[in-house]
Amino acid sequence: MKIGMGTRQDVGGVSVPVDHLIGGSWVSSPQRFETRSPMGWEHLADIARGDDATADAAVAAAVEGFEAWSAFSVGERADALHRLADLIEARNDDIALVETLDMGFLYESMKQRLVARGALNFRTYADLITEHENSTWDAKSMRNQVQRMPAGPAVVITPWNAPFMLSTWKLAPALAAGNSVIHKPAEWSPLSAALLAELTLEAGFPPGAYNLVQGIGEEVGAALVADPRVRRITFTGSPETARHIGRAAAANIVPFTAELGGKGPFVVFADADLDAAAHRAAWQFDDSGQVCLAGTRLLVAAEIRDEFLERFHHHADALVLGDPRDPATDIAPLAHPDHRDRVHGFVERAREAGDIVVRGGQPIDGSLHYQPTLIEPVSNDSEVVQREIFGPVLTLQTFADEAEAIALANSTDYGLSAQIWTASQSRAERVGAAVRAGLVWVNTFLVRDLTAPFGGCGISGIGREGGDYALDFHSDIKTLMILDDTTK
Ligand code: NAD
Repeated sequence: MKIGMGTRQDVGGVSVPVDHLIGGSWVSSPQRFETRSPMGWEHLADIARGDDATADAAVAAAVEGFEAWSAFSVGERADALHRLADLIEARNDDIALVETLDMGFLYESMKQRLVARGALNFRTYADLITEHENSTWDAKSMRNQVQRMPAGPAVVITPWNAPFMLSTWKLAPALAAGNSVIHKPAEWSPLSAALLAELTLEAGFPPGAYNLVQGIGEEVGAALVADPRVRRITFTGSPETARHIGRAAAANIVPFTAELGGKGPFVVFADADLDAAAHRAAWQFDDSGQVCLAGTRLLVAAEIRDEFLERFHHHADALVLGDPRDPATDIAPLAHPDHRDRVHGFVERAREAGDIVVRGGQPIDGSLHYQPTLIEPVSNDSEVVQREIFGPVLTLQTFADEAEAIALANSTDYGLSAQIWTASQSRAERVGAAVRAGLVWVNTFLVRDLTAPFGGCGISGIGREGGDYALDFHSDIKTLMILDDTTK
């Protein structure tokens, strides 16, 4: 490893650091990996490829950084988080452009909403720690007080599909709680994290409070989660990877949270505003379906199936596939050729199994775009119903009554999100209570207050993030009990 000023590369006119940030310095690696753009599969940058030595150095830096960062007062920590949020807002358009080039996210969405949401993650947690009061009560001649202690270095591992927003979402509570962090972004979209790392330096974080390690999950990611000096692991990604990380966490008795995949039911009752529901159903193709929360299983009351389908096609036909830099584009390419092939594999196997492809079902030649696809499965056991595809592929099934709707909604191993479309308040409450999912939206989608709990049931995850839930996870919680006499 070589410590220096750090290597930078020009990405669409933005200068991006392509090394690790360890202990406040840019650190390179002998090996590099390349990142390419989903638009035309153009080469964007060569990034430092971390190894065991990188992981070791990053954890050592985080151990030192923890001493400094956890000694900051709550007010000092909150100020640093607000400064970081200010800097994110100031670099809004650069972050948006780099993310669009690297991952294919729609530029307008990034520019108008998602970078700002990233900044808001830091502000929300700055405010939460400032407003927090230890709960205190008297019982059995004792004064009891519950305190949060920063837990230690935390490894934060993020996926490729919404890299900037998800990174800020996971980093903010870890840092706010007083933990130092080692952030390992996904190798398919590593660039916006590099800009964020640079901003932590500008925001005056002490060396080692925030460390960025770039590289391949099975290599440096695996080394990081296996290190016994790490005291928290927080992961967003696939259930398959979570199983590996869970084993490493268990070996060191380290708490870990896992935000994993989804197979959300999108339940439409006959009394729903059908056009609103069909419009929203077509928008489950947003981000080319690379959304863990998407309602990918359309479950529709049998008596409205035809009318719903007609309206769905109408809205899906209006979606514009194109370059994510173009404001007219609704649907961007998939993030990676391997992922396009994986998505198409699901559709090919569905055809072979006798499922009916009602629309789409093909990659678009010469690009990473995939046609928005709807499949009517022969059975609820079909692979396309039971497994997360993570592409623009929805299934359509019907139900006879509310009981069947609930049974179908709960019939996969996942349980991240659900959507219910109905005009009836009592049905919304009844079905909402019966559906096994961490997040249930009724007649809307995606809107969520950052202080609300977030997480999944079943193989969709372990633990809850958001608001105080994430702060509790990142803390060692202590009960301080003082005999009443002591206070006299
Ligand atoms: P992934 O599991 O392949 O990779 C996620 C991260 O884990 C990457 O940074 C990767 O490098 C790292 N990694 C891989 N193997 C590792 C190992 N052995 N040890 C340590 N780290 C390792 O997931 P992905 O393909 O990047 O992301 C897509 C998945 O993420 C989908 O299943 C999606 O539903 C899920 N997701 C969930 C949420 C949520 O909040 N529930 C949000 C976004 C994405």
